[in-house]
Amino acid sequence: MPPSPAPTLVWFRADLRVADNPALIAAIARGAPVVPVFVWSATDEGVWPHGAATRWWLHHSLERLDAALQARGARLIIRAGSAAEIIPALAAECRASAVVWTRRYEPAAEATSRSVAATLRRNGIEAHELRGNLLLEPEEISTKDGRPFQVFTPFWTALQRRPGSIALAIRAPRSIPAPTRWAGSDSLESLSLRPTLKWAQGLRASWVPGEAGARAAMKAFANHIVGRYSTGRDVPSDEGTSRLSPYLHFGEISARQAWYASLATGGSRVTGSSTGAAAFRRQLAWRDFAHHLLVHFPKTDSHPLREQFSAFPWRRDARALTAWQRGETGFPIVDAGMRELWHTGWMHNRVRMIAASFLVKHLLIRWQEGARWFWDTLVDADLANNTLGWQWTAGCGADAAPYFRVFNPTLQAQRFDARGAYVRRWVPELAQLPDALIHQPWTATPIELAAAGIELGVHYPRPIVDHAAARSRALAAYEVIRRTAVPS
Ligand SMILES: Cc1cc2nc3c(=O)[nH]c(=O)nc-3n(C[C@H](O)[C@H](O)[C@H](O)COP(=O)(O)OP(=O)(O)OC[C@H]3O[C@@H](n4cnc5c(N)ncnc54)[C@H](O)[C@@H]3O)c2cc1C
Repeated sequence: MPPSPAPTLVWFRADLRVADNPALIAAIARGAPVVPVFVWSATDEGVWPHGAATRWWLHHSLERLDAALQARGARLIIRAGSAAEIIPALAAECRASAVVWTRRYEPAAEATSRSVAATLRRNGIEAHELRGNLLLEPEEISTKDGRPFQVFTPFWTALQRRPGSIALAIRAPRSIPAPTRWAGSDSLESLSLRPTLKWAQGLRASWVPGEAGARAAMKAFANHIVGRYSTGRDVPSDEGTSRLSPYLHFGEISARQAWYASLATGGSRVTGSSTGAAAFRRQLAWRDFAHHLLVHFPKTDSHPLREQFSAFPWRRDARALTAWQRGETGFPIVDAGMRELWHTGWMHNRVRMIAASFLVKHLLIRWQEGARWFWDTLVDADLANNTLGWQWTAGCGADAAPYFRVFNPTLQAQRFDARGAYVRRWVPELAQLPDALIHQPWTATPIELAAAGIELGVHYPRPIVDHAAARSRALAAYEVIRRTAVPS
């Protein structure tokens, strides 16, 4: 019997799917056995190791990816340690001739890719990095003078001019050629990704991680939600968004699959379908924009893009930070959001903006503190999107909301949660208050509070700051750096 050709290693990273996976397709196309591998490493992620919620998600995703690979005749080899050592060592152990993977964009992940590729090539093994989970690679799009975009609208215009460049999604392979002998794998349990606390109950009740879960979410969105997306997406009590963010983050669905699925929801394949589907694709483009920024300005994960914000007079206030994290600020909409986050690992986008703004403007706490908390508690924690979201809110990022525009949480709540349904769900102690008071219980009379069964300061906190005073304080702080501001 002729010896079987040298296998190809597929290094799974943030592409935990079998459909539309460029690395898996390329490996199979080489016509040799395929060895899928995932490397678990806390150190490879630099200063952003996986948070507790994404670890939980990852556990279940890996389990499901392994099942999908097994259904096709393969399996997932798991190894713990630094990829820079594990991948070349496993390639040698399997006598592989090549390793293929799809790109990740976080600065630490890019550094790991470079190191892995260099070692493999030194060892005479081919290394192929393929396009990652974006519509277009960050380098494929630039301003007229060849610079990175820092404003979303022209970025979106440029992206829409190149719809043909967004690669068509590819079906999952029916089978994957297996090696004659499988390399050993660490057990998933040995990675200890799941929290020991009961905390994961809420996550379990809210999500089905994995490719099938992603497909179901995409289908539900396309069949039932897309029609009301352009207006419903701002109403937190209405389940009016796709909830695809964790799936997109882990690559359980590709951005291209989501893009083309939305185009298929009706109307023209070229111009798109409904306004809802077009609005959804715009959000996918925001995701691309966030990655574009992170790749071109890699320090922005921790430092403000607009340098003058380095001198901003932030406050340290551990008690206020804890109240915010626990959803005990006394501002019902902020508290509802922070409790939704803790319970489900996700928060509605409108409420993310309100809660984040409250931290950086009402409490004057550094945006990096908020970004860290989100990082640990979001199932969709994503360095590019989280950085963009926080820098946008704090006014120090690309295309950011001006710092002097201070959201009034009560007015925001009255506009987007007019009947208080969202607050009633997540802050049940306020549920009996009438609509007119639900977003500002501190204005209720003692009789009204008693009728709703609430004593402020006992059942629900009094506001930890006064809105008008906090707004003046934020504007005064902004004055400190305003004169050094570089016009954008
Ligand atoms: C302070 C702050 C922090 C954030 N942190 C994260 C994060 O860590 N991870 C994350 O995925 N998103 C983050 N976002 C963006 C946004 O809130 C979520 O992507 C969105 O709420 C996810 O819900 P969905 O999948 O139902 O979104 P949909 O409205 O259905 O949008 C579809 C997809 O588009 C992308 N998208 C939507 N809005 C944005 C946006 N503003 N920026 C970038 N991409 C977007 C997401 O991948 C999303 O899944 C943050 C926003 C703010 C204001």
